[in-house]
Amino acid sequence: MEREVRVRFAPSPTGPLHIGGVRTALYNYLLARKLGGKMLLRIEDTDQNRFVPGAEQYIMDSLRWCGIEIDEGIEQGGPHAPYRQSERKPMYRQYADQLIRDGYAYYAFDTPEELDAMRARLTAAKVPNPQYNSITRAQMRNSLTLPAEEVQQLLDSGAPYVIRLKVPRKEEVRFQDLIRGWVVVHSSAIDDKVLMKSDGMPTYHLANIVDDHLMEITHVIRGEEWLPSAPLHVLLYRYLGWESTMPQFAHLPLLLKPDGTGKLSKRDGDKLGFPVFPLEFHGTDAQTGEPTVSSGYRESGYLPEAFINFLAFLGWNPGTTQELFTMDELIENFSIERVSKSPARFDQNKVRWFNEQYLRAKPDAELAQYLITDLAAQGLAVDAAKAEQIAALVKERATFPADLAREAQLFFQRPSSYDEQVISKKWNPQVAAALTEFAAQLPALPDASPEGIKARLTEVLEAQGVKIGQVLQALRVAVTGQAAGPDLMHIMHILGPQETAERIQAAVAALPA
Ligand code: GLU
Repeated sequence: MEREVRVRFAPSPTGPLHIGGVRTALYNYLLARKLGGKMLLRIEDTDQNRFVPGAEQYIMDSLRWCGIEIDEGIEQGGPHAPYRQSERKPMYRQYADQLIRDGYAYYAFDTPEELDAMRARLTAAKVPNPQYNSITRAQMRNSLTLPAEEVQQLLDSGAPYVIRLKVPRKEEVRFQDLIRGWVVVHSSAIDDKVLMKSDGMPTYHLANIVDDHLMEITHVIRGEEWLPSAPLHVLLYRYLGWESTMPQFAHLPLLLKPDGTGKLSKRDGDKLGFPVFPLEFHGTDAQTGEPTVSSGYRESGYLPEAFINFLAFLGWNPGTTQELFTMDELIENFSIERVSKSPARFDQNKVRWFNEQYLRAKPDAELAQYLITDLAAQGLAVDAAKAEQIAALVKERATFPADLAREAQLFFQRPSSYDEQVISKKWNPQVAAALTEFAAQLPALPDASPEGIKARLTEVLEAQGVKIGQVLQALRVAVTGQAAGPDLMHIMHILGPQETAERIQAAVAALPA
């Protein structure tokens, strides 16, 4: 029988979730939904030294904002609860014991000083990568080197120990990665990783494998930084007798800085002015203890649809020219085979572009709501119909919702100055006279639609013997103060003939012709 597809996102709550982590969650989610499977959220908090308060809640809030739905997790519960590793602590020990019993793991009693001495010895002997492994373990104090009675005595006396995996000396470990193809690593490159710490907590490696097995995970989709751990995980599946149900691995490409020179970090975001976290995060500086704030996509005005669409393309493409995908379309089109192995470069302009597309595609009534709220915050009232007209006009100049209110200022404030360049080039007695006549005719205009206004302007200018091209820019500056902006006829239409006329008259009075 085909197994139900079950994937998991397994973050450690060590801080806010980086966008690389969000991408990992997204790809897991897309695969689960596409294949009619389940998406799990497991919190990997066995390393309590790195625990950051609030991080767990932050992770869940971020996923919710992105529209990544969790089927089983700490909030949802599920058949394999608990989904927080610290609460599963009693479950791991038996597997470490099983590995010891079967000869695949051993007790190691070395003190931190002894471990340091070993590293110093190996470094002095110019061993390039000093580690506890199939060779060096022979010189250390562990259950492979000490007599059985001494081991028992140490255990009985409560001496501190760890449990280490006994990695074979000469063996090729291979597995097929869904993105990278066959991965082959020689076991001599793998060290005898600690599986159980002296405080009785499992390490990431043991807990991760035991949980993936117990939770019946079919696909492990995670960042490239975990690729070096995968051979060790393959060994663990084998030694625990779980090879036949071992999940398939897919290691996602790295996310690079905009200039392609290395992994995208929080510092790049700070330096270049873009967030690397989905939501704003309030934390504390590890060194100074001062409160810190890291900016988030949500608070910077990004729409979750745009953020997700952008992230989906960082490492995946549909094989067509289509770029705009709703979550449902992503689900339909996603496949692991189309995930690239080459690193993906973060592109700040692209994420802005996606935001513009999604913002401008929203119904004008919805954009009007942003506008009404933002203007109200400035003490400006606008009715819904007018807000909708303004939003429809200015949205082409907006990247973020807040840009709408900024672009709308011209409707609420008469110009306090006039663009000097335009005035020096385009303002002259003839233009001033033509505009004065146009202003005089405006209030009684029977058709104040953008077309009606344009028709009357054309008539007046013809009668005055002035070409429209000579006047338009001056008129824009007279009405708005600025050299550029949205369609002028629409601006005058929204302002209304009376206000437009008064603005033109004020400009004529203020500007020496
Ligand atoms: N806890 C690991 C992390 O923080 C999970 C890695 C994995 O998916 O196996 O990314």
